[in-house]
Amino acid sequence: MKYLHHMRVSPIDEWLKIALKSRKENITALDAQAVRIRDSYASYSKIIDDVATKISGSTFLAEKALLIDYYSAAPAELSRLLVMRRSDTTLHECPYCGYPYTPDTLDHFIPKEEWPEYAFLADNLVPQCRGCAPTKGSHYFCEIKNSAKFIHPFYSDLISKLAFHIEVKFIKPVPSFFVHFKSIGSLSALEKQRLELHVEHLKIRKRIVSYCHRSFNHWLDLVRKMGLDVTIAFSQRLNEKGGLGVPSENWDHAFFLAILNNKETMEYFSAERKQKVNNSASSLTDLGF
Ligand SMILES: [Zn+2]
Repeated sequence: MKYLHHMRVSPIDEWLKIALKSRKENITALDAQAVRIRDSYASYSKIIDDVATKISGSTFLAEKALLIDYYSAAPAELSRLLVMRRSDTTLHECPYCGYPYTPDTLDHFIPKEEWPEYAFLADNLVPQCRGCAPTKGSHYFCEIKNSAKFIHPFYSDLISKLAFHIEVKFIKPVPSFFVHFKSIGSLSALEKQRLELHVEHLKIRKRIVSYCHRSFNHWLDLVRKMGLDVTIAFSQRLNEKGGLGVPSENWDHAFFLAILNNKETMEYFSAERKQKVNNSASSLTDLGF
């Protein structure tokens, strides 16, 4: 996963300025709150960095409907920016979990229901996958560990230090997948705890295992239907995603590497392919012309 510092918008109130230029029917009400909203934006970075401190209650609850309205029924220019951010095609994996597809939803890193002042703050809007969306939801702080549960991909490079290692145990015809989390470089005890919380609260281990089973069945289906050579197919995909000798920063890289390195699974794919190739050949009858 990558540190997405470049997705922060400067100045931090840029999207507020755009909202204030709109002709929405409730623009006067938003304008009346502009100074207070800017004040809250000024402490956003500090709140995110200060992971051990619970955020104090919002002073904008009376304006909640107004502020959320500028996100859910955003005026034209703001809406265009939101759409671009929601489906940013330069992202090839979920910034939160490493799910290997372009994310297509937006998360309010600080939940908008409790802190509506950040409802349309660009820096609070993180593209995420649909697997993370219901899991992260409106959670924010872990009382037991006294820490923010999640790592902000725009504000901490810690997210880019997480790598995945998948181990396969194959007992014909079903593989079992075991996920191990690794760090790229050494981490402090606090950084390790933060990654652990993030991984645990997004249920990343369970979701990777489920993804591996789906991927395995998908590729097995292609082998059985088309006689696909997975050695070639997986090697190509592994190369597209960084090749051998680099840490797996998304689920696909770890999956392809795990399968290619597992003799029993590869033998199983090979046997299934042979059967398909033989069946295809024997079904051909010479028509004599
Ligand atoms: Zn995700």
